[in-house]
Amino acid sequence: MKIEAHARTDPGPVREHNEDSFLVDVDAGLFIVADGMGGHAAGEVASALAVDAIRDVLLGAHDPDETRLDRAAPDTEEAIRERLRYATNQASLRIRRAALDNPAHAGMGTTVCVLLVDEDLAHLAHVGDSRIYLLRDGRLQRLTRDHTVVQQEIDAGRLTPKLARIVPHKNILTQSVGYHGPVEPDTATRPVRDGDVFIICSDGLTDPLDDEQLAALCRDTPVDQLAERLTRAALDAGADDNVTTVVIGLSQD
Ligand code: CA
Repeated sequence: MKIEAHARTDPGPVREHNEDSFLVDVDAGLFIVADGMGGHAAGEVASALAVDAIRDVLLGAHDPDETRLDRAAPDTEEAIRERLRYATNQASLRIRRAALDNPAHAGMGTTVCVLLVDEDLAHLAHVGDSRIYLLRDGRLQRLTRDHTVVQQEIDAGRLTPKLARIVPHKNILTQSVGYHGPVEPDTATRPVRDGDVFIICSDGLTDPLDDEQLAALCRDTPVDQLAERLTRAALDAGADDNVTTVVIGLSQD
């Protein structure tokens, strides 16, 4: 698959720092969004550490401190998903170590969304409430399920998705990388097609815009303008958080 990618991040009008981090590595087919949390600028430290750790583990950068999975083993789909889970937990470990070294950063954590495109397959992993969407044949589909208390309540039938958007505790996470220690990322592998567009974003995009609004914005917007358009729309809709949008377009060579 031929890959094009476009990213946009904006601190928004309220926050002093941008605590979102992202990675766009078209050659490796690796794309990450992490949304950090924690006082004293710890959020941006946590999200940057997570992006670096996941890139290092997946792309094999040398780190004597870490035991990598056997990279000589054949890359079965399950092996790749296992590597994604391992990378996410290495990120968690690095963040916890950094927090021990600097008490001002105690309790920092981050969400993580990882997309790895390998030939005709996309491998996904996520922890927290950053999201991955797929735009295919003009239809927008959310591929991740938020690790939040409200999502659990929706799943249990105690809350409607509409109400979930306005309850005060909507951003409380049930897992985050670093803060919660060992994590169990959701992982998936799915075949990709010519024309598929993946969108990875922080909750700064999806808090002010629901899936219907996102789908409407995606319609008729060229891939190379989508990250800018979505981010701008979130800010215009009153986003008070950092907004990060990474758009990955796939086409047959
Ligand atoms: Ca956020």
